[in-house]
Formats: sequence, C-alpha cells, structure tokens
Amino acid sequence: MERMNSPEILPTLVIGAGVLGAAMAHTLTQSGHSVIVLEAEKRAGEGISSRNSGVIHAGIYYPPKSLKAEWCQRGNRLLYAFVQENAVPFSACGKLIVANQEAEYNQLLWLKDNALPIPLGFTEWRPHGLQARWALFSPSTGIVDPIALVQRLLETSQAEVLYNQEVSHLRVGPLGVELEIEGTRYCAQRVVNCAGLNAPLLAQKPPHFLAKGSYFQVTASEFQADGPLVYPAIPKHSPSLGIHLTRNTAGQWLLGPDIEWVETENYGVDPARQTDFFRAAVRYLPWLKMEQLQPAYAGIRPKRFRDQWADFLPVFEGEHQQLVHFLGYESPGLTSALAAAEMLADHWR
Ligand SMILES: Cc1cc2nc3c(=O)[nH]c(=O)nc-3n(C[C@H](O)[C@H](O)[C@H](O)COP(=O)(O)OP(=O)(O)OC[C@H]3O[C@@H](n4cnc5c(N)ncnc54)[C@H](O)[C@@H]3O)c2cc1C
Repeated sequence: MERMNSPEILPTLVIGAGVLGAAMAHTLTQSGHSVIVLEAEKRAGEGISSRNSGVIHAGIYYPPKSLKAEWCQRGNRLLYAFVQENAVPFSACGKLIVANQEAEYNQLLWLKDNALPIPLGFTEWRPHGLQARWALFSPSTGIVDPIALVQRLLETSQAEVLYNQEVSHLRVGPLGVELEIEGTRYCAQRVVNCAGLNAPLLAQKPPHFLAKGSYFQVTASEFQADGPLVYPAIPKHSPSLGIHLTRNTAGQWLLGPDIEWVETENYGVDPARQTDFFRAAVRYLPWLKMEQLQPAYAGIRPKRFRDQWADFLPVFEGEHQQLVHFLGYESPGLTSALAAAEMLADHWR
C-alpha cells in the first residue's frame, strides 16, 4: 500500500486479478517491469476465470491469423509448460469432436482443414460408450484448474497484488495514465485494463453483450476416468462450441455451456434447461438418463457482438501506447492469457 502514495508516479499497473491480469503480472515482471495488480474483490480469480470449462484449447476453430488462433496456439504451449513447472493440476486428456450426420461430417472436414498445423485426425476410438459415426481427435487439448492457475501465476510473479481496490476514471493524462480508487487519484507510467466484464466501462467503450453459459454435472459409471473430452461438430463461426462433455481436475464430469443472452450478471442455473442439455448430449451419449444431470454453475462470456464472430480486441491509447484495454476477452481466453501477456511485454520492450 505504501507504493500507492498518490503524488508518486507509479510503475506498471494491472487492473484485475483474473487469468489475464495474473498472466500479465507474471510475464511483465519477468521482462523487467515493476508491477502492481489492483483487484476490486477480496480474492483473485473470482470473475470469468473461475466460471468456465477449464479447457486448454488447441486453437482448432478460429480463423487462421486471427488473434484467437495465434494466441490460443501459442498460449497452449506456454500454459502446458507453466502448469508442468509450477505444480498446477492439469491433464493432457485430449478431446474428440464427434459427428453422426452427413452435414456434421462436413463440419469436421472443415475443422480439420482450418486447424492446420494443429494435430487433428480421424479416429476409431470410442470411449465413454460414445456414439459417433465419425470422430476427430485433438491430442493437444487438455484441462487445468483455473483458480490454481491464477494463484500460481500471481505467486510466481514479482508483482504486488492489492485487493479491495476498485479502479475508476481511467484515462491518459499529461504525466501518465490517471485513475481513481475510492476518490483518490493516482498516476502510473503504464496501465493494462484486464477487468473482464467491466473492461469496456473502464475504457469508456460500448458494453459487452453478456452471453451466459450454464453447466450441469453428470454422474455416470460409463465415463473413463482419464478419458478425453467430447465436443459436438458445430457450424463455422458458431457463437459457442456447443454443449460438450468436459471434466474438471477434481474428476467431476460436466455438460455445458449453453448460450443465453442476458442483460445483467446472474449466475443461477435454471433447472428447466436440463431437457435441452439432455437432448444435446444424448445424441452422442446414448446411455444418458435425464436424472443423471444436476445443475452445477454458470459463467458469462464478454462478447463484442451478438450476431457476428469477433476476435479479441486489445485497444491501445496514448502517444506511447501506455494504456491498453483488453476487450471481448472471452473463450479461448484462459488458454491464450500467457500469449496475450507475451505480446504486450514485446510491444512495451
Ligand atoms: C462459460 C465460459 C466457458 C469458457 N471456457 C473456456 C475454456 O474452456 N477455455 C478457455 O481458454 N477459455 C474459456 N473461457 C474464457 C475464459 O474463461 C476467459 O476469457 C477468461 O477467464 C477471462 O479472464 P479475465 O482475466 O479477462 O477476466 P476475469 O476472470 O473476469 O477477471 C477480471 C478481474 O477484474 C476485476 N475487476 C473488474 N472491474 C474492476 C475494477 N473496476 N477495478 C479493479 N478490478 C476489477 C474482477 O473482480 C476480476 O477479478 C470461457 C468463458 C466462459 C464464460
């Protein structure tokens, strides 16, 4: 707190201690920045970063050369290296993308083509009593414990992390980047806005569209404990990856997320959605029974558009690009965080 004396010009500030802010703290301190992380809540990782599938994506779906494709593929490699070196729970379990109809088969062909150079090939493997006429296997997909990841990124960084610090009034001023915390003004050399759902508010940009995704837990003896995740084939540029079968590092199997546009943040799971989840999953898990599903949790994706595909959007401000806002930082944001941070460290070098 001593370093937050208001007349002083502070070094690099990171707003938000989700996975993006934590990755920024880790990477920017490694490249020589002195970093303070400012988090509004009393703990790290309580926003989007703790309400997701926890999947280490391979980068199969995104348009080649998009930031999502590039950061996800690079982030996948950086993330596996980090979790192995830092004892973060993870599993390189792989994933199957399955199809039962001709139209879905064509979607698999498109994905295989789009994914190059990521390893992805047709397989006859059918674990979990899976029904699939065709299946693609992605060996570089895995799962990670997202909260443990955020904590380890912060612990292994040289950054100072301050909680209960809600930032407002962010702007570039004559001496640096100006901001306020509870009515006190501060000025910093550089600031990264990683405030998740609040990032556009701080950036004074149009708000994100909120795409809620709910999850149901499934309890069944058919699952192969260390087996792969299972995703349905989806059309090009679908707003979500379809209701898939995923597993957390504690060994619980989950179905989700669906997509529901909401006006305000709310994280309750409507039990009435169970029928839709069951219908989506029974197509590839034919043994599934409705009563095996239990409401679990929900998360909210910060989407830049409702009706079209959008890339991650880093927006720089100031003569020296000393303020950067990360907008639309939705999936595959968990996987991409270390690559996004590497980009910024290079940019500010
Ligand atoms: C349903 C769902 C499933 C997903 N699945 C995956 C997946 O399997 N794999 C994957 O790679 N990605 C996935 N994602 C995307 C990934 O979870 C997000 O991209 C990532 O967690 C975003 O991290 P963040 O740090 O930007 O945001 P957050 O985790 O929300 O962190 C933002 C932080 O900023 C703080 N904050 C907000 N306002 C202020 C303020 N004014 N001052 C100070 N602090 C503030 C918040 O308290 C919060 O801690 C999924 C997302 C969702 C919603």
